[in-house]
Amino acid sequence: MNRLTGKIAIVTGASSGIGHATARLFAGEGANVIVSARRQDELDALVEAIARDGGTAVAVSGDVCDERLAQRLVDTALERFGGLDIAFNNAGATGAMGPVPDMALSDWHETLDTNLTSAFLGAKYQIPALLQRGGGSLLFTSSFVGHTVGMPGMAAYGASKAGILGLVKCLATELGPNGIRANALLPGGTDTPASITNAPDAGPEVLAFVENLHALKRMATPEEIARAALYLASDDASFITGTAMLVDGGVSISRT
Ligand code: NAP
Repeated sequence: MNRLTGKIAIVTGASSGIGHATARLFAGEGANVIVSARRQDELDALVEAIARDGGTAVAVSGDVCDERLAQRLVDTALERFGGLDIAFNNAGATGAMGPVPDMALSDWHETLDTNLTSAFLGAKYQIPALLQRGGGSLLFTSSFVGHTVGMPGMAAYGASKAGILGLVKCLATELGPNGIRANALLPGGTDTPASITNAPDAGPEVLAFVENLHALKRMATPEEIARAALYLASDDASFITGTAMLVDGGVSISRT
């Protein structure tokens, strides 16, 4: 399939999980991909795997809280590939969990910086490059947590992911006249290193609990979320902007 032939795409959070699967899928669909995260070794292995499959990717490591990384990612897209068409701002972390009265302000800021301010920084530098191209697709990873579901102990995470939805709506209206779409992808429980089901102390009962929250009675694979990212990023979603797309196995509507 060649749904992204000739496109240039940034994917953050590409060293594992959803971002890793999406980078491979985008490259397999013909995009030149700039992959980013903090762990250089994982990025290098990803670039090699994409090359082995006949694709093209380049790694730029750094922290999404760092404004200079946002700039470097776009500079790399322009210098190496001549433009930017798609940005999947996906990097994120659950952050410190616990009741609000016990939450340190520094932990709150760290989660908001990693999940929400990073999205703003990404967009800030990506938009001028997309404008030069005459259009494009901005995509952000939010979550069902903070949108359709509240979970105790996840106030900072939920607030950061809900904040992305406000950012997306405003970006969609700011950029729609210029042919740039902005959307949020809201995964349900997905089997990645970030999932609480993969925490060192999580037993089988945690997995069973999380699976049962979903109408489909299972978690997603990263590849299933990647396919939704491909849809939103590609011209198949040419009339979709400002939306919050749940790809959540029914966790938002299930009451059983
Ligand atoms: P993951 O496998 O842990 O991936 C998270 C990615 O973000 C990693 O590549 C990590 O790379 C990167 N990252 C984290 N903090 C970063 C920072 N400060 N600077 C740069 N990169 C950073 O987990 P995932 O599940 O695929 O998570 C991807 C996104 O999906 C996140 O936004 C997450 O909130 C969201 N999400 C996940 C689920 C789920 O159930 N898994 C559900 C809803 C939403 P490095 O550690 O190498 O920097």
